[in-house]
Amino acid sequence: MSDDLIARAAALDAADPLAGYREQFLAPDDFDVVSYLDGNSLGRPLKATAELMERFIREQWAGRLIRGWTDEWMEWPLRLGDRLGRVALGAAAGQTVIADSTTVLIYKLARAAVALRPGRTQIVLDTDNFPTDRYVLEGIAAERDLELVWIETDPVTGIHAEQVAAAVGEETALVLFSHVAYRSGWLADVPEITRIAHSVGALAMWDLCHSVGSVPIYLDKWDVDLAVGCTYKYLNGGPGAPAFAYARKDLLPSLRQPIQGWMGHRASFEMGPGYEPAEGSRALLSGTPAILAMVPLHANLDMLEAAGIGPVREKSLLLTGYALDLADELLAPYEVEVAGPRDPEKRGGHVTLRKPGFEKLLEPLWDNGVIPDYRRPDGLRIGPAPLSTSFGEVYRGLAVLRSLLSS
Ligand SMILES: *Cc1c(COP(=O)(O)O)cnc(C)c1O
Repeated sequence: MSDDLIARAAALDAADPLAGYREQFLAPDDFDVVSYLDGNSLGRPLKATAELMERFIREQWAGRLIRGWTDEWMEWPLRLGDRLGRVALGAAAGQTVIADSTTVLIYKLARAAVALRPGRTQIVLDTDNFPTDRYVLEGIAAERDLELVWIETDPVTGIHAEQVAAAVGEETALVLFSHVAYRSGWLADVPEITRIAHSVGALAMWDLCHSVGSVPIYLDKWDVDLAVGCTYKYLNGGPGAPAFAYARKDLLPSLRQPIQGWMGHRASFEMGPGYEPAEGSRALLSGTPAILAMVPLHANLDMLEAAGIGPVREKSLLLTGYALDLADELLAPYEVEVAGPRDPEKRGGHVTLRKPGFEKLLEPLWDNGVIPDYRRPDGLRIGPAPLSTSFGEVYRGLAVLRSLLSS
């Protein structure tokens, strides 16, 4: 049985048109890592990123000093945002910025959104969304005296259009959901749920943290109003890399985000009295952008653009499909269940396996060089980043898991 699974991994690797990208990452086969299955939590670094960081520090930072701001750094949040929009978000230029963290951007955009729907008293969200999304909306509801309407989502699937249709109404100002559920990997129907929100006059905001760089996204075509996401997961931006925000072009002139800092001002360096928002997407910015932390994005977007999000998604589905086969054949005998969608059309870039007591296996897995992700109460997430993970690596990881289960 294992021989057949090993042969399948070898055949899939041999036929993989993206296999060569693995070599562009730093040390994919060094250190003590046997199998890295958490690309959906922190992507691996690229070799080019290490070089770019070094060059940026030695040449631009050391050489240009403060002149770097006027050379080009002031433009990075917008220029990189536009590029991310083109390569990964299906967003035309002028709507996306790189800034802050996802948490802060959720606050800025959601606060701005509810202000665009005065008189409406509700925000619709779901119980299984990522904690930070829920917590930030709780804070906004308290601050603005709004009501949260919770949709109970099944943690093994995710948010469904029918649930949203039943929850929204004339009181709804905003809905916020994740494109890919962080636990189950459920892929939400963004265009349909967005259409439902619009049908009652509400705005639709999407958290793309678990889809960007893994699942094709068409924000413009889907008519999405607002979106946020992080760049340190499938975009390999590094720990704490800044996030991105998207606001639909025709919303931007009326959208007023609440953190009115000088970098979102019409004329940052005039330092005049009173806040006047910049035109366009610059108004989404607040304070000094994290330029150093944006350096890796240049290399990552080069790579993603060359590979293409379409082929990345194809490989992602093959990787998770193979992981599901391994779960069925190697792990099911040990009462491991698949806690997520099997249908490729409903599946994001990771799969979640469940068994009571998995928590105890995390340390021995790490000791054996196998690094998945653990999510309470009993879920192991297998998130093979398509550009840095081979099928053989997925096999090695789940084979170690099986041997731990059997001992
Ligand atoms: C990872 C993740 C976040 C992270 O937010 P930070 O502000 O970067 O900590 C937010 N939402 C979702 C859905 C995530 O998966």
